[in-house]
Amino acid sequence: MAPTKLDPSRSRLVAEVDFEADGKQTGFVRLFHSVHSSAYGFIPIPIVVIRNGRGPTALFTSGNHGDEYEGQVALCNLARTLEAAEIKGRVIILPMANFPAGMAGMRTSPIDGGNLNRSFPGNPDGTVTQQIAYWIESTLLPKADFVCDLHSGGSSLMYVPCALMKLSGDAKRDKKQSDLLKAFGSPLAYVTPGGNGTGSDHTLSGGAERLGIPALGTELGGSGTVTPAALKIVERGLRNVLAHAGILPASELAIPKKPTHIVTVRGADHFVYSGESGVWEPLVELGDSVKAGQPAARIYTPETPWAKPTVMRFEAAGIVLCKRIPGRTTRGDCLFHLGSD
Ligand SMILES: [Zn+2]
Repeated sequence: MAPTKLDPSRSRLVAEVDFEADGKQTGFVRLFHSVHSSAYGFIPIPIVVIRNGRGPTALFTSGNHGDEYEGQVALCNLARTLEAAEIKGRVIILPMANFPAGMAGMRTSPIDGGNLNRSFPGNPDGTVTQQIAYWIESTLLPKADFVCDLHSGGSSLMYVPCALMKLSGDAKRDKKQSDLLKAFGSPLAYVTPGGNGTGSDHTLSGGAERLGIPALGTELGGSGTVTPAALKIVERGLRNVLAHAGILPASELAIPKKPTHIVTVRGADHFVYSGESGVWEPLVELGDSVKAGQPAARIYTPETPWAKPTVMRFEAAGIVLCKRIPGRTTRGDCLFHLGSD
């Protein structure tokens, strides 16, 4: 499929950095937003560009969902420590892609309620979140040879730290994505055909797919916090993919001896949703192997304590990759999802 390109000149966002200059540049992307308290002001989205001559370009993004912190911390550390002299090519770091959501510690923007990772390809004349999506897809993505968009479970979910890739059906692109996934070197990773509420083509990786650029994703943990274990995986993984791409020297590649266990999140039967509203009791833990038909959770209604709890079951066998965090649940919430061999 021919790439679908957007016109970058239609974006209203203005970057303070020069993407073509050598060295390390730090600054902001200005998103002009006229409000009562600041008539001519802009929203300052931080950006770091590190370039040393010709070579491939890596685009690293996090804070696409503002309450997912592992990637934000890892990219702060990378932005501070990676020097232009170490690399060949270019690394573009956008640690708080949905800046207003990041500052609020929320999945979605407090300004327009926008979920950036459901807003692509965006709209240059739309809301703040739609304008950010348009700028990323029209201006940033076309500069990249590959993109890593770092996510985690956020406030409502917790993951076993995973790298992930979405199958596109383009064999050449999928092979490049699979090579990135293996180079990242996390103990566990998953491949998904997409769907099941995970954003389809309205995500940043959907934008990368429209442009034919390989995209690697992560789900690094969650619960609205940061763990040392997840940080260790992502920080090693980022340097590994830079070495894999030839941006860092090959000697930097440090893939664990045990190869990544790659599972598939096949379809709707890999998800368990609340069938009732109430307080839920998980019956398995993250990382457990489960069988089809096995009880996954009991949902209680403490307002009628004598009522029998509702039992939710796994429809497929697999490894528990993701679980819901808050104890209260509403019918339709995702409680678990699996990956299977
Ligand atoms: Zn996310």
